[in-house]
Amino acid sequence: MEELLRRSEKLTTVGQLAAGVAHEIRNPLTTLRGFLQMQQHSKTINPLHTDIMLSELDRINLIVSEFLILAKPQAVNYQTKDVRYTLGDVVSLLDSEAHLHNVEFSVHFSSEAILVHCEENQLKQVFINVLKNAMEAMPSGGKITLMLYPDEPDLAVIRVIDEGEGIPEERMQKLGEPFYTNKEKGTGLGLMISQRIIESHKGCFHIESEVGKGTVVTITLPRRLGKEELPQDA
Ligand code: ADP
Ligand code: MG
Repeated sequence: MEELLRRSEKLTTVGQLAAGVAHEIRNPLTTLRGFLQMQQHSKTINPLHTDIMLSELDRINLIVSEFLILAKPQAVNYQTKDVRYTLGDVVSLLDSEAHLHNVEFSVHFSSEAILVHCEENQLKQVFINVLKNAMEAMPSGGKITLMLYPDEPDLAVIRVIDEGEGIPEERMQKLGEPFYTNKEKGTGLGLMISQRIIESHKGCFHIESEVGKGTVVTITLPRRLGKEELPQDA
């Protein structure tokens, strides 16, 4: 609980984050400038350098777009949605990428509607982040189990279980801190943004992991009850 408080205090101001973003962007910018300067001197274009410049530009782009999700107050449009469809859409979206990496989704959704009052695009963002992390934790493929079920009295539970490398204790402490990543091409923003979004939906975001066995992400959200609220476009 103390840890939770400490973390949320640390992340309260987007301003603090902006400083971090500026810092993260300065590195690829410095690289870009260096290569451009070299090309200016040599008057020839080295394709290898162009590749590096492009990937540095991509990195800046990724950091900025992930950050914008947080910083820009999007038009908030809360609607009551059946999250089985929200999550189902995301699974379809990622299916071909998963296939490419030998990852198989095993989907277990409740047969009854799971209605949640939500900003659907933000929830999709969370599901994409979590599912991508699960995929990236299994470089040689494996199974990702997705569960979605109602819990008494009025909770929706979403669980993503991977068979990846797992997270050692010392890394666990750092999860959710901006820019913490162990990936060469990671931004370390995904989890923090996901936690924020779930908190703004009055839900909980929880990670458990065992090294060598895998990771379980559990998201709980308040569930809307009542048959008068129909799924989809309600
Ligand atoms: P990124 O994916 O860009 O690294 P995230 O914020 O999404 O940033 O995740 C931060 C870190 O948390 C990852 O770099 C990884 O070390 C760890 N992590 C998150 N999800 C998982 C998972 N399912 N299995 C193992 N490690 C994970
Ligand atoms: Mg990620």
